[in-house]
Amino acid sequence: MSMSNSAVLPIATVGEKILAQHAQAVIEFDHSIQLLAENMLTTMIAANGVGIAAPQVFSSVAMFIMASRPNPRYPDAPNMSPVVVINPHIIERSTLMELAEEGCLSIPGQRIKIWRHAQIKVQYHDLNGNLISNTLVGFIARIFQHEFDHIQGITLLERSKMPEQQRPDTVN
Ligand SMILES: [Zn+2]
Repeated sequence: MSMSNSAVLPIATVGEKILAQHAQAVIEFDHSIQLLAENMLTTMIAANGVGIAAPQVFSSVAMFIMASRPNPRYPDAPNMSPVVVINPHIIERSTLMELAEEGCLSIPGQRIKIWRHAQIKVQYHDLNGNLISNTLVGFIARIFQHEFDHIQGITLLERSKMPEQQRPDTVN
């Protein structure tokens, strides 16, 4: 991805309606989607994020970036090159779930413990419209599930109140 001429975009914070909306599928894999991806990447890097979803930059589009790497917000994050994920679907979810703290660029300064599926099978389109299938585990699977929630209009605040989160370990 070229990052020339890309811009840091304003980030929507909780309370903004766009974060509660179901994002629209991408139909045309055109220059505007490429440009949005570049600007999302630049914005995510500037904010020390390991992922960012289009609704967080005020575009109600089913697209997000995963880009795990160690940074001041997540010192133990694994290294992976940025992946642009468009029209995502979770095909399978492991019954095994893991509990860990998550932050969100749209919820500044807060960390919330969230149960996520330890392994997921996913499908999505890349920037060229190619269909990609992948199996994700651990921290990367967690990022995908977090960003996938944004596409459905769900933030950590709603997720933390969902029934599957009510396990003994979540007390305290
Ligand atoms: Zn988030």
